[in-house]
Amino acid sequence: MPAIRNFCIISHIDHGKSTLADRFLEITETIPKEKMRSQFLDLMTLEQEKGITIKLQPVRMEVNLRDKKFKDLNGEISEDFLILNLIDTPGHVDFSYEVSRALRSVEGAILLVDAKKGIQAQTLSNFLLAKKAHLKIIPVLNKIDLKIPDLEEKRKALSQLLEVPLEKVSLISAKTGLGVRELLKRVVKEIPSPCKNLEEEKEFSALIFDCKYHSHLGVLAYLRVFKGVLKPKEVCFLFHQKEKFEVKKLGYFLPQEKETSQLKAGEIGWVATGIKEPEKVFIGDTVVKFNDYQTKKKLFVLEGFKKPTPTIFASLYPKEASEYKNLLSAFKKLHLNDSSLSWQEIKTSLGRGLLVGFLGLLHLEITSLRLKTEYQIETFITLPNVLYKVELKNGKIIEISDISKMPSLGEIKNILEPFVKLKVFLPSIYLNEIFSFASQYRLKYLNALNLDKENLLIEFEAPLSEIIIDFDDFLKSRTKGFGSFSYQFLGYRPSLLKKLEIYVAGELQPALSFLVHKEKALKKARELVKKLKEHLEREQFPVIIQASLDGRIVAKEILPALRKNVTASLYGGDFSRKKKLLVKQREGKKKLLKLGKVKIAPEVFLKILSR
Ligand code: GDP
Ligand code: MG
Repeated sequence: MPAIRNFCIISHIDHGKSTLADRFLEITETIPKEKMRSQFLDLMTLEQEKGITIKLQPVRMEVNLRDKKFKDLNGEISEDFLILNLIDTPGHVDFSYEVSRALRSVEGAILLVDAKKGIQAQTLSNFLLAKKAHLKIIPVLNKIDLKIPDLEEKRKALSQLLEVPLEKVSLISAKTGLGVRELLKRVVKEIPSPCKNLEEEKEFSALIFDCKYHSHLGVLAYLRVFKGVLKPKEVCFLFHQKEKFEVKKLGYFLPQEKETSQLKAGEIGWVATGIKEPEKVFIGDTVVKFNDYQTKKKLFVLEGFKKPTPTIFASLYPKEASEYKNLLSAFKKLHLNDSSLSWQEIKTSLGRGLLVGFLGLLHLEITSLRLKTEYQIETFITLPNVLYKVELKNGKIIEISDISKMPSLGEIKNILEPFVKLKVFLPSIYLNEIFSFASQYRLKYLNALNLDKENLLIEFEAPLSEIIIDFDDFLKSRTKGFGSFSYQFLGYRPSLLKKLEIYVAGELQPALSFLVHKEKALKKARELVKKLKEHLEREQFPVIIQASLDGRIVAKEILPALRKNVTASLYGGDFSRKKKLLVKQREGKKKLLKLGKVKIAPEVFLKILSR
């Protein structure tokens, strides 16, 4: 029987996880040299285009320890074969739900830190997640091929964080491969075997940690098997969802799906359920055998995942109204693969659409891009908002995710908005930068802490709405890319907010209404109409753009008409014909004015969002 090691790589974004995975794939000869490309485990085209990991990705590496080439990897184990199941994870905070699920499917984690940047926000939050999951954590400093004057300082900080001796922090370069083989030996030696409590004879039980839709095989469920053995044609049961299915095929990841004849306790793999309705399967469910369930055998039911709370809400509409049914079916399939999205169907003046909760702005962008690239559905998205609460004069408190549905001013006693504790990590030389902009983001200083000689952790209290849109860009640009942040929800508090609404050609734009703090409201209203004037396309008629605050118009701009020179093609002096044409054009203008519909391209929304 082979030895098994299940582990994942976690870090802040860009610290080199996917590159380290490449080296492991090379060392174990999982991917032939000629097929290798950088960040091999970023399988999605979107990931390759953007250069970031969005999805967790498992891969199985098999090593014959009797082979001379691999003998040194044996890590003092007696087995002849070794299976290494690696799960690569995303580093951006918007995708931390992916990380939390990967952590539940493995026994150990490599905590990777870019030696140049040191400990950053997601280093710390992912470390805490791994610790909570009781994983064996191997600390590693990466990119030591670069000149790093304070390498020992950084090593000390990481050893202190994990409370391990200095020499337990491995030094590697994922790019050149320096130290990577030694690290793999540590993985085999130090990460516990899942086989310790392997019970192959027991009733089958596996955790679904991810899913994907396959057009022929239906839902593919990614499994971590905890007990028993599963084979094709066996009848299974989704314990929580109470859904039966027959195993069409099963296998593991290479990283593409490779078929095998069985999946056993301790292994990571996939099973084709044949289920065609994506909403019938959910991540976090336990797969058991139907027979065991019926005969009331004692089953090992696994704890599911705590779904993350969405931080922003936006409505999603198909560009063409007739595409709504396709959008809905595509979204259900996408949701299967990204269950951190929360959603409901809505019908507004913009038509039928979906109100979607996202984990951040990048998550929103990626979702609309995935709908476009994977399902060929073009969507348009309204301005993202946080979830507000309104305390009515009659004492009731209601939740508002669609600002256009706010109760009237007369009914409102208080508007409450979500506040967070914001942790900003940055080199101390940039300290003043942050404080000079604190008021712009309504940040309230709480305290500061030295992380090492040069790096600081500063805590603020902040309204969530201020940091979800562009705080990341702002921080990066002010700190040459060294700053990072994370936040925790504190609670809802009353704020002096005004409702900002936009009228284009006299029509209220429900997609362009939001709440803004009293002190910034007027400035924001003026900025917004200016930006709209800049970005909206000209029409055949002049378009008036107005902004109102709590129902009162406070700013106005006029976008001049596009004057088509209809007479240019006429030569000579046939004046009467010319005149006729001009009259015709004027009539056309009137007609358009009456219709009054101004199309606002989805890109415009994103452009006017930035500060
Ligand atoms: P991930 O977001 O953690 O998966 O990081 P990637 O593996 O995508 O790497 C981010 C960037 O760092 C890429 O441009 C890599 O080429 C680079 N990188 C990764 N490891 C090293 C290293 O050891 N040395 C240097 N100089 N660059 C590295
Ligand atoms: Mg990556």
